[in-house]
Amino acid sequence: MNKDKMQRIIDKIEEYDKIIIFRHFRPDGDAVGSTKGLQRILKLSYPEKDIRLINADSSDYLAFLGGEDAPAPDDFYKDALAIVVDTGTTDRISNKKFALCREIVKIDHHIDDKPYGNAAWIEEERSSSCEMIAHFYSTFRDRLKIDAEAATYLYAGMVTDSGRFRYRDVSGETMRLAGMLLDIGVDTEHLYANLYMKDLRNFRFQAAVYKKMRITENGVVYLHVTKRMKKKFGLSNEDASASVSYLDSIKGSLIWLAFIDGDDTKTRVRLRSRFVEVHDLATKYHGGGHACASGATVYSKAEMKALIADADALIKEYKEQNTDWI
Ligand code: AMP
Repeated sequence: MNKDKMQRIIDKIEEYDKIIIFRHFRPDGDAVGSTKGLQRILKLSYPEKDIRLINADSSDYLAFLGGEDAPAPDDFYKDALAIVVDTGTTDRISNKKFALCREIVKIDHHIDDKPYGNAAWIEEERSSSCEMIAHFYSTFRDRLKIDAEAATYLYAGMVTDSGRFRYRDVSGETMRLAGMLLDIGVDTEHLYANLYMKDLRNFRFQAAVYKKMRITENGVVYLHVTKRMKKKFGLSNEDASASVSYLDSIKGSLIWLAFIDGDDTKTRVRLRSRFVEVHDLATKYHGGGHACASGATVYSKAEMKALIADADALIKEYKEQNTDWI
């Protein structure tokens, strides 16, 4: 069935002269890698087509992977095919002009809460959208071309979205596709240096995180990164958001949360878990995502407290009913 969906997508790609690729705002490695990887594969495979990647925001952290195409006037979108990758819902699409395109294709691995598009290929159990694009290439390798540049974009998204191949949705297929990309040519030493080296101020911030984090009775670890904290350590929103990963390996803590104050009154919540699922919790607080990695928003301190209490109740229930957690 997925093969039919992929077939429909490649047929659409072949039908259109103009294709515009989109992703979610506040892009992570998977959003950037999957869209840049797809663009590169399509450009190599169909040099006669006009294939652009146009979005409304960018990531400083991922700037080393290179930029995207310049904005285009509304008219440009009219007869184009939109391919939206790694974006569960239309409200999260970075460039709102996607709606002007003639048809929309959705390729994604998030839980499909609000389906959209004229054609969609969703595999919620895939570890990343990059894995799906690598699979797409591999399936149609008689028609598609790839090179080391495209392989690097896709590998970058695979390694970041799977927590360096540690999360539970990593399968044998993930590793086979990663192996295929390595064989095509990925300079992992340079890639990992760009992805994982941190400035000194980030380490100082990390030290402060360990002082400031709190743990609830049943093991929710949480942290509130306030505007003041961001200013003190000279952090961008992206730097501050990275703090969720500093909390990820405390024994007995099955859910960990980072609350990041925005520039307005909203607070972004990053939810992560092992064994217990947090997707429904995120949905309750205006969010969504994956079973064990979701995002949400809270609008007050009271809502923040309520979310922490709900997370604590989830762990309590899980620990009462299971013994296989660490
Ligand atoms: P984050 O902590 O923001 O990186 O989110 C974790 C995962 O959930 C990512 O794959 C996001 O794309 C997704 N996500 C975050 N916020 C939302 C939301 N409001 N609705 C749907 N998916 C989301």
